Amino acid sequence: METQPRPASPYPSTGLLGWLRFGRPEGSAPDEAPAPREDPTRHARRYLIEQIGLFLIDNGLEITQQNLATALSIYSGLNPRLRREVDQLREQGSPITQAWLDRATASEAQGEDASVKKLVHQLEQGIADFSRSTSDARTVTRRYGDALAEHVEQLDASPDPGEIITELANYARSMLERSRKAEAELRHSEQEAASLRRNLDRARRDAEVDFLTGLPNRRAFEVALERQYTEAQAAGDALSVAFCDIDHFKLVNDTHGHEAGDRILCVVAKTLSQISGEKCHIARHGGEEFVMLFRGSTPEEAFAMLDQARIELASRKLVNRRTEQPFGQITFSGGIADVFAHANPRSALAAADEALYRAKEGGRNQIRLAGQAD
Ligand code: GH3
Ligand code: MG
Ligand code: MG
Repeated sequence: METQPRPASPYPSTGLLGWLRFGRPEGSAPDEAPAPREDPTRHARRYLIEQIGLFLIDNGLEITQQNLATALSIYSGLNPRLRREVDQLREQGSPITQAWLDRATASEAQGEDASVKKLVHQLEQGIADFSRSTSDARTVTRRYGDALAEHVEQLDASPDPGEIITELANYARSMLERSRKAEAELRHSEQEAASLRRNLDRARRDAEVDFLTGLPNRRAFEVALERQYTEAQAAGDALSVAFCDIDHFKLVNDTHGHEAGDRILCVVAKTLSQISGEKCHIARHGGEEFVMLFRGSTPEEAFAMLDQARIELASRKLVNRRTEQPFGQITFSGGIADVFAHANPRSALAAADEALYRAKEGGRNQIRLAGQAD
């Protein structure tokens, strides 16, 4: 496993007690003023900012909103997959170019693709048309009101009201015609807006689904994680998170081709989906990685469910239906963490990811619990 830089310990060498100022290092002068110590949370935040800054500066990347967001997802633990890819490149001494970063994040940005933007634009256009129509209608009504008032005044003063009444009737007729037209325009705008809104809802739903497996994608998972975290905390429910990664998947692609690899991805997605339900959310985190959230399950209970899925998949004899060539044993490894045993959901994800890598190191085709010795 690659070694990832960790924040320097916020504690002095005398340990936690020393940090809390209960202990005193041996031999230190009794009246020696303790060095001011930064709050660990502040320290971690400062370290995160430093990492983001170094990542952008060292790689000569522009400081853009997109690059900052990507760097944050890498170093906050939100996107361990990308973190590993970045670390691998660094280890190889390869530069992280803008082109590479754009490619690496392209699949994740797919959700916010042009179709949603186009629909938002159309909806904005529709709203602009709608307000133009209402404003036109208001102007027409005001003009009619003014003309009416003027003619009524003339009517009062006129010895021969016949001509004015005819003019008034003409005004009324033209007003009726224009208000009918305005009404039709408004109705049309309303129908357009309703249909655009429906399309937008559908596009937004599509943006949360992984195209290949039909599972929710990472974006949807993050939303579910935030919600489940808050709800489980309030209800006092257990919450466990798992990362799963297909073993030697590159070999499947290399041997059978990318399309066959895609079918294997779907088989694994289906196997894991069998566990999912109201209490278990599953998503494709990206590539050949899946992430699962077990509400109301301790890590041990989640382990039992996931291990069952692992055994089931490993026992299948999958055959490439295009070539009749057996795929050989397809397996995955997994890591599970107790969400509430960590400072926040992101740290829990990072802990599950670390447990996953212990499972890989331990020989793959196995599940490991975070914080448990090998
Ligand atoms: P490990 O057991 O250590 O996880 O090995 P691995 O080969 O599974 O891992 P590695 O990260 O070396 O390779 C992952 C491969 O997954 C490389 C990439 O091309 C492939 N992959 C990622 N997304 C897709 C996809 O959507 N379809 C297919 N067919 N392959 C994908
Ligand atoms: Mg992987
Ligand atoms: Mg893999």
